[in-house]
Amino acid sequence: MKSSGKPCPICSCKSTVSPEDDEYLRCLECGVIRTKYDYEANQYGTAYAMNYLEYAKSPVNKSLNLFRLGLVARWLKENSTILDVGCCVGEFLRFAENHYECDGFEPNPVAAREAVKRTHSTIFESLNGHKQYNCITMFDVLEHIQQPKTLLTHLYEILRPRGIIAITTPDASCAIDYNSVTIDGNIRAWKHWKPKEHLFLFTRRSLAILFEGFGFEIVHVGMEESDIRPGNPNGDIITMVAVKG
Ligand SMILES: [Zn+2]
Repeated sequence: MKSSGKPCPICSCKSTVSPEDDEYLRCLECGVIRTKYDYEANQYGTAYAMNYLEYAKSPVNKSLNLFRLGLVARWLKENSTILDVGCCVGEFLRFAENHYECDGFEPNPVAAREAVKRTHSTIFESLNGHKQYNCITMFDVLEHIQQPKTLLTHLYEILRPRGIIAITTPDASCAIDYNSVTIDGNIRAWKHWKPKEHLFLFTRRSLAILFEGFGFEIVHVGMEESDIRPGNPNGDIITMVAVKG
């Protein structure tokens, strides 16, 4: 590891390091990992949408979306509005729209078309609207975003006061043993190390810095989805809920 000379994209400190091949930058303060790749829309084509349609048929899908619905329901009143960012083929919306007024945002046109067919929710293919919501959900999305602060700036604006944002993302804290000399090997051996797809890998600390920096209050942090979704035995998936202050 060598000093990268670049500021951290999340906490802005200058204590960032890179491996010899510069494939990623890792922050020694907040722990976030940013790969050197940028978002490529062609990675999220037809095959991507079709994979999720298959996943929707699996038994895990129901438990997962019921958990997500039960979680956000703790903070929502009747007739609350939800925007599901990165709604893919509309699986969470199918569950949530029975209880709340829901919209979805999905930039992949194939997935968005499926979401239109499979739900009664309004599906947007761009995120330019100004409608305000009581709840924004963003499941398995943040790690794919090239500029998380830019996205969160917009989401913060369209969230009502005391509205909530609920996210899931891989938890890099479980892959980083800070005392290990093979830290680079540990990161690259982790199942969520997909550097062209997962541009950011967050730790709990980096998520806290990111969301609290916007004025969010974090009200829930858990690893429930690591138990629901097979193959995440070490608490690999973090769920977080934050309230707009
Ligand atoms: Zn940092």
